[in-house]
Amino acid sequence: MAEMFYDDDADLSVIQGRKVAVIGYGSQGHAHALNLRDSGVDVRIGLREGSKSTVKAENEGLRVLPVADAVKEADVVVILAPDQVQRTVYAEEIEPNLNPGAALVFGHGFNIRYDYIKPKADADVLMVAPKGPGHIVRREYVDGRGVPVLLAVEQDASGTAWDLAKSYAKGIGGLRAGGIKTTFTEETETDLFGEQSVLCGGASQLVQYGFEVLTEAGYQPEVAYFECLHELKLIVDLMIEGGIAKQRWSISDTAEFGDYVSGPRVIDPHVKENMKGVLADIQDGTFAKHFIDDQDAGAPEFLAYREKGAQHPIEKTGKELRGLMSWIKDNDTDADYVEG
Ligand code: NAD
Ligand code: MG
Ligand code: MG
Ligand code: MG
Ligand code: MG
Ligand code: MG
Repeated sequence: MAEMFYDDDADLSVIQGRKVAVIGYGSQGHAHALNLRDSGVDVRIGLREGSKSTVKAENEGLRVLPVADAVKEADVVVILAPDQVQRTVYAEEIEPNLNPGAALVFGHGFNIRYDYIKPKADADVLMVAPKGPGHIVRREYVDGRGVPVLLAVEQDASGTAWDLAKSYAKGIGGLRAGGIKTTFTEETETDLFGEQSVLCGGASQLVQYGFEVLTEAGYQPEVAYFECLHELKLIVDLMIEGGIAKQRWSISDTAEFGDYVSGPRVIDPHVKENMKGVLADIQDGTFAKHFIDDQDAGAPEFLAYREKGAQHPIEKTGKELRGLMSWIKDNDTDADYVEG
């Protein structure tokens, strides 16, 4: 059984006694910064000159500084810039200005796991990684709840890094839901695997194929959209509430029988073999190198994929339908946190 932490296991005064610099104010950055502030923590934001995120942070009453200045003021530096820029920001602006003994906090282990960042020996290096998108981390905190977090300590220079990690996790509301003790390696490899194979890559491809098969067979795209994309959320909500078993209990017997008969026909054992290939590329660093090399070249492959995805006919159908569904439009306002 994994080791779990809850609010009673953490002392909020540890993080309340530190000066925190949050570098980046995007999806995770805004959530960490605002939740910490509302937990009584001294927070400043470090951003590039001219960053679009500056206005958003200042509108919340947060103090925004150039990254170097924010780091100079801090004894806890939280690195929530995009993974692909973290090593450059770290080398050029963070490390040269880092106070002796200052702690580094990550929201994902990528740069430590793949050695793009090699912290100095006197720094505590920890991770508090919410298992949910940043805008949900903020929304749950405001509603008095929290998103579960993974906690890890890569380097415990002070001997008290775990106290700081737990206190920080409590500050962002994560220990209201619960924290799970892990390592940078386990978090990085499982996070990449989950998003590539199941949550993002697997689900997106499954939805697109389903939509294509129906529309190519002559069915209306609007109907295909509901059957293959919109209802997915309703099914996944049942899984979250009570596992696959509750989902199967709630659906009709017709749907449940079809699940057993056709699920393994669509997602056949080849898919499991393919997933093992994906995991191998994550474990040996092939995926990380592929991503970072493309980013360093100006992201030509990444941008081409993004453009191709945006052109898929399901996006046009979805945009039209969502415009008619007022209850969905309301939630779309969170989208502007994603890019800074
Ligand atoms: P994001 O793209 O939403 O936001 C990045 C922020 O960094 C923006 O404010 C941007 O202006 C700023 N930024 C960009 N370049 C910068 C630079 N050179 N110097 C300073 N600031 C810079 O990023 P994100 O999705 O929140 O990801 C941040 C970290 O959190 C990553 O390590 C990611 O893996 C992790 N994470 C993200 C999520 C999520 O919900 N998106 C979930 C779990 C973990
Ligand atoms: Mg994840
Ligand atoms: Mg991830
Ligand atoms: Mg149906
Ligand atoms: Mg049933
Ligand atoms: Mg993003």
